[in-house]
Amino acid sequence: MLKISTSSKLLELALANRPDSECETCNALIHPGWESVSGSFDLKRLKLVGTLRNEESPETWDEYHPNGTHSWSDNAPIAIGYHPYTRCNIYECIDCSRKYLRYGEYGGYYVDERIRPLNPEFIIKS
Ligand SMILES: [Zn+2]
Repeated sequence: MLKISTSSKLLELALANRPDSECETCNALIHPGWESVSGSFDLKRLKLVGTLRNEESPETWDEYHPNGTHSWSDNAPIAIGYHPYTRCNIYECIDCSRKYLRYGEYGGYYVDERIRPLNPEFIIKS
């Protein structure tokens, strides 16, 4: 699996294979900010292609919002090294190859799968 540790690598991935056609498979996921994956979406339609996780670096809860956004903002920065990006894996839709960031938020007895399109516009250069 591809380990991504710099914003330029992430940007490269975000800019690769960007379809402009509609995709029935992942259409429901195309929302600019983070969203919980709906239970009706089949996660098998996404293929793991890379990760931003780095076992050597300590877990962080710091978020990066220099322009007054918050974690659910549509235009929240995608900032490597900040929460929740340190916990994200990168997936692509098996039909259209759109890229998505995804992580599991552990809440009590279940895992809330959260997903966000990997939009190059929001990637912060580090
Ligand atoms: Zn798709």
